[in-house]
Amino acid sequence: MKIFCVGRNYRDHALELNNPVPEQPLVFCKPTSALLIDNGDFHLPDFSKDIHYEGEIVIRVSKKGKSIRKEDASSYYDKVAFGIDFTARDIQNKLKEKGHPWEIAKGFDHSAALSRFISVNTRLLDSILFETHKNGEIVQSGNTDDMIFSYEDIIVYLSKFFTLDEGDVIFTGTPAGVGQVKSGDVLEGFIDGRKLLSCHIK
Ligand code: ZN
Repeated sequence: MKIFCVGRNYRDHALELNNPVPEQPLVFCKPTSALLIDNGDFHLPDFSKDIHYEGEIVIRVSKKGKSIRKEDASSYYDKVAFGIDFTARDIQNKLKEKGHPWEIAKGFDHSAALSRFISVNTRLLDSILFETHKNGEIVQSGNTDDMIFSYEDIIVYLSKFFTLDEGDVIFTGTPAGVGQVKSGDVLEGFIDGRKLLSCHIK
């Protein structure tokens, strides 16, 4: 299983961190040891003082493929979940300054919180509303219509470089409103009003 992530896929989020809006998908991976499932608790790691949540729509690859054409791309995913791309922002900022890879800021243990997957008609994947709540308040509200690169664009792009396998997952980017978590916070993720994820910060 591979865990792909797309960075800066929502204009308003790219701008809130003073990043340029990318011309091609900005891709990174997390190892499988990053997975946090079954609404498990997230334990703040001691190497960072600024862990951020990034609430995201995650799609599941439904069959093996390589060099997938755009017209075929929608048949390569069939399920969605709510995910949190936990990010050590202080470490990421230092790495970005040096032009170094992001893995230690993005791929550490339990940095990929993932809800259960729900089946969707892929045509209904457009205009999905999703929200991150922190301690009961809405902190992120996104609409997948605002993605810079669509699910199809992402699948076409990723499959140029990587063979996609059934069960791989793709975090498709976060809208504006990312922020810090502290011990005692509770994050919840909603897709179209349906609560899929709950995560206690310890
Ligand atoms: Zn992200």
